[in-house]
Amino acid sequence: MLKLDKNKLQDFLKAIEEEYQIQLPVKKADQTDFCNFEDTLKPNKGLEIDLNTRLSVKSPKSYLFPRSESYLEFKKDNERLDFKLKELTGKANLIFGIRNCDQESFKILDKVFLQEPVDQLYKRRRNSTITVVARCLEQSETCFCQLFEIEPAGSETGADLYYYNYNDGLYFTAGSDQGELILSDYSQYFKSVEPEIEKKLNQEANQFNGKITADSDNPLMQNKPELLYDNKEAIFNSDIWQELANRCLECGICTYLCPTCHCYDIQDYSADQSGERYRCWDSCLFSNFTEMAHGDNPREETYQRLRQRFFHKLVYFPEEQEESLACVGCGRCLGSCPVNIDITEVLALAGGVIND
Ligand code: SF4
Ligand code: SF4
Repeated sequence: MLKLDKNKLQDFLKAIEEEYQIQLPVKKADQTDFCNFEDTLKPNKGLEIDLNTRLSVKSPKSYLFPRSESYLEFKKDNERLDFKLKELTGKANLIFGIRNCDQESFKILDKVFLQEPVDQLYKRRRNSTITVVARCLEQSETCFCQLFEIEPAGSETGADLYYYNYNDGLYFTAGSDQGELILSDYSQYFKSVEPEIEKKLNQEANQFNGKITADSDNPLMQNKPELLYDNKEAIFNSDIWQELANRCLECGICTYLCPTCHCYDIQDYSADQSGERYRCWDSCLFSNFTEMAHGDNPREETYQRLRQRFFHKLVYFPEEQEESLACVGCGRCLGSCPVNIDITEVLALAGGVIND
């Protein structure tokens, strides 16, 4: 374990900025979100690095899977159509200060995008992204990652670097060879750690990783996420979806902020003999999401689309991906839905269907 004094953090980030495009949690007007480190150096922007907030408004998924991107150029030359995949330019990404729930969400995105047929756009970003996880030793009232067997204080591998935020320092360990390399290449910023502090931090992490269980008082932990999977027919056909749909505004915020939602649309834009192909995030809550070219729509009603969102996360995804659920309990949908629909309410309502 190595310590970086907090008053040296900016110097360290400036040094590694030579190699990486750094994104990190930044506070502006009481809201924390990921921003480019270079913007925090501009006084007129009023941005402040935020090492304490556990939940950024947006998830960091956009650094692997951008909200929209133009990725292909095409040109018609007489009868011939030429395509060219756009190059990924610039430095590798380093995402600093993500929480372990978001780190785990990358594993879910990996299952979607890195299995055959491999999504080359995602792969090239994933391969050039370093992640630095801030270990949680406390939870917020909207956290329930342990319902999905995620360890909030992090484990030993998965991210490239992990750190504890403790008193005047950040205490780092490496989770990969790349992380080891960063610690050794920039060793002038780090110092060794007294064994008692290392022991204390590791003990706290072990205790916290096992602290919130399904039996705890946390109301978000009361319903098992396997509920839909185990009772799919009864819950699929229940009235809960219509009840929820009566409130849903179909705004799509839940899917845009969710770190594991990954649906997208593809559009071509062309003029004369050339054009570009874009892809952009889509949402299963949108009424035209499954609309077909001939006009039919198998999920015409809001309740069908709402049901699809939660069945995808808790039934279809685990059916396809060796029982892996597509939620990490980050709590973003708890705080962001304008009519307070979230996955814990769905589980509670589904529990009522089974117990009736
Ligand atoms: S955020 Fe809430 S209101 Fe908006 S689409 Fe999602 S469930 Fe519906
Ligand atoms: S469904 Fe909600 S709690 Fe689960 S990963 Fe998505 S935003 Fe987070």
